Amino acid sequence: MVEIDWNNLGFSYIKTPFRYLAHWKNGEWSEGQMTEDNTLHISEGSTALHYGQQCFEGMKAYRCKDGSINLFRPQENARRFQISATRLMMPVIPEEMFLEAVEKVVRFNKAYCPPYESGATLYIRPLLIGVGDAIGVNPAPEYIFTVFCTPVGAYFKGGLKPTNFIVSDYDRAAPAGTGAVKVGGNYAASLMPGKEAKAKSYSDCIYLDPATHTKIEEVGAANFFGITKDNCFITPLSPSILPSITKYSLLYLAEHRLGLKTLEGDVYLDKLDQFKEAGACGTAAVISPIGGIQTKDDFHVFYSETEVGPLTKQLYDELVGIQFGDIEAPEGWITKVNV
Ligand SMILES: *Cc1c(COP(=O)(O)O)cnc(C)c1O
Repeated sequence: MVEIDWNNLGFSYIKTPFRYLAHWKNGEWSEGQMTEDNTLHISEGSTALHYGQQCFEGMKAYRCKDGSINLFRPQENARRFQISATRLMMPVIPEEMFLEAVEKVVRFNKAYCPPYESGATLYIRPLLIGVGDAIGVNPAPEYIFTVFCTPVGAYFKGGLKPTNFIVSDYDRAAPAGTGAVKVGGNYAASLMPGKEAKAKSYSDCIYLDPATHTKIEEVGAANFFGITKDNCFITPLSPSILPSITKYSLLYLAEHRLGLKTLEGDVYLDKLDQFKEAGACGTAAVISPIGGIQTKDDFHVFYSETEVGPLTKQLYDELVGIQFGDIEAPEGWITKVNV
């Protein structure tokens, strides 16, 4: 029996018993193995250590009321992982191999998938890193693909609460850089702006488009959305934004379940008045309502600094209801883990 206080979990590493490990060498992937060792033994010459040749994914397993376990659109993570790997000259993981690894990790660690009532989930972290003896700036000779998981708490305990954000002077990605792929380098670049925002008591910072610094791109490590006064759900479109699976799911739900208009387009910082509600979205953040945004000379409040807006709440209930199996999902969105 696992002794965990499911209702008071945060977002921190808890070692679970099993992880998946596969090695790429001489042009092919080894048979993946489940292992209990949570440490990696790699060459000091590994490109992941020197040149940031690595990519990752973030997903969750959701315990349903009937005890079964859901994955939410894992095929989309598999595809994005391939796109990230390709951008950094790493071998791709076949979709079936990715899905099998994720499902195995959940199945082997199912005792760590939190109970339905807690609202907590099992966070899954697939990782691909360049390893092997090397020193020059070149793609690595070998790669490790590993998937581990750790239970994480519900993002909001006691209801959705808006928080405030501050626009950053820094960029997380370059206009034609790696902003659209899930690679560690983007996160390394975001540590300082994030820290500075938090030191000023904001939840995180907002990144503007790196070319003109006039449009909203990302909210920390989450995507931005706004709902206009005439009921259009808008998210920014840019080649330096990470294409969030949550965001594309919300675009669909906003249109097909809430009857809103939807648009991917520019979100100008000087046109925030058009929005009656705004939020951040991602696997970890789920939907986090944005209370206000601090710009250079203005503090712009959307719906309220203390209350979640009604449409944001409706979207949240729809998304989370689907993930935990309480609301019927659009075709193909849920994969049951065979536990
Ligand atoms: C992972 C990530 C997101 C959220 O993507 P999801 O697929 O919804 O989890 C948003 N922004 C950045 C920078 C990310 O790395």
